[in-house]
Amino acid sequence: MTRIGQIRPEFVEFIPEKLEPGVLYVSRRYSTASHLCCCGCGMEVVTPLNPAKWGLTESNGTVSLNPSIGNWNFPCRSHYWISGNRVQWAAAMSAERIAAVKARDRRDVDTMVSRPERLFVRFVKAVATKIRGWFS
Ligand SMILES: [Zn+2]
Repeated sequence: MTRIGQIRPEFVEFIPEKLEPGVLYVSRRYSTASHLCCCGCGMEVVTPLNPAKWGLTESNGTVSLNPSIGNWNFPCRSHYWISGNRVQWAAAMSAERIAAVKARDRRDVDTMVSRPERLFVRFVKAVATKIRGWFS
């Protein structure tokens, strides 16, 4: 297996059935991007483009994806960033670290879904603290 160091964007309406290595297929219509794992293992990596998942930025014809791509569920467990069409490899992650990142991802999604409720709870707590302050 050969690691890929460069990836180029291809803007498409539909993600093709068969992906070419070294190409990041971006479908704005379906807010998703797909590419073959940059380690060369041939697994397809799907990165939904939305605030809870990945953000795609373009600059001078190059693309960057944030956050990093962590293929914890693949046998290769590869982890890399796509930044300015370059693939930047991260160190392999330990099992605990992977668990921590997964937990954080879940929390991010939860936070996005229930932000108004959270803000309300924070407000109530702040008021309660203030009232306690008056009486102490
Ligand atoms: Zn891989």
